[in-house]
Amino acid sequence: MTATSSYAYEPILERIAEEIERTPGRGRPADYIPALAACDPRRFGMAVAELDGTVYGVGDWRQPFSTQSITKVFTLALDLAREGDELWEHVGREPSGNPFNSLVQLEYENGRPRNPFINAGALVVTDRLMTRTGDAAGELLTFLREESGNASLDFDKEVAASETANGDRNAALAHFMASYGNIDNDVPALLDQYFRQCSVEASCADLALATGFLARHGIRADGSRLLTRSQAKQVNAVMLTCGTYDAAGDFAYRVGLPGKSGVGGGIIAVVPGRCTLCVWSPGLDERGNSVAGVAALDRFTTLTGLSVF
Ligand code: GLU
Repeated sequence: MTATSSYAYEPILERIAEEIERTPGRGRPADYIPALAACDPRRFGMAVAELDGTVYGVGDWRQPFSTQSITKVFTLALDLAREGDELWEHVGREPSGNPFNSLVQLEYENGRPRNPFINAGALVVTDRLMTRTGDAAGELLTFLREESGNASLDFDKEVAASETANGDRNAALAHFMASYGNIDNDVPALLDQYFRQCSVEASCADLALATGFLARHGIRADGSRLLTRSQAKQVNAVMLTCGTYDAAGDFAYRVGLPGKSGVGGGIIAVVPGRCTLCVWSPGLDERGNSVAGVAALDRFTTLTGLSVF
């Protein structure tokens, strides 16, 4: 198969869905807020978007779900597009090896989080995007709507309120970093932006399409450029090394693609120059990644031979 020929994605997706259906053990939905705990772990959807916006899917691929930490990829890209390398003075790009909401490394590293995909790092990115745009969550939502072509994408107010009610640890992270001068905005205003960001509801089809700019080396759906080719490579690299909590090594080993998961059970993944994927199944493993989602991406790269390696 040449680099430009297209795969018959539909039979591959059908086969993966059948295999997943037969697999016992789906993990448990996130239970830190009621809206996520109520999700059925047997639900499963998967979508593949080609560079031209053609989308294929299987199962619950059009069902909106809580995007959560997947949005960290988009706020990173939106901020990087605006401020460039200065961002990296405020957040690192090393895997943390610690849980996503960990406070421990911050003190040793003077309030500079390890990477943009742990909560501390994402708070810094959202803070900086907020400073530049006035409304980071609004900027994110507009971007997702435009890239997915789905103008009805929105925040889930119940999830955002629930995040706020259970937000002590994120508040602690933000205040701690503010004490080092690494947060510009008022912490409550920043938290409001961050929780709204986490609450965006979107489907596998929406997210596979919205991730397309990373497979097109920085080019948006309308042909305009968001990131330089080099920046798109950088975001993909950070996804590969830091995108799946403290299981990024195992994800790279099994799947071999840049990916980003969220506790809603979604995972986006990028085959640069080729296609983007999104899979959703709410049951998580002990590190917060969707059990069926990782298994499905593992099967996808095995069956197609598509990976970055
Ligand atoms: N809203 C979650 C938090 O900040 C995001 C968790 C996640 O998807 O990793 O705690």
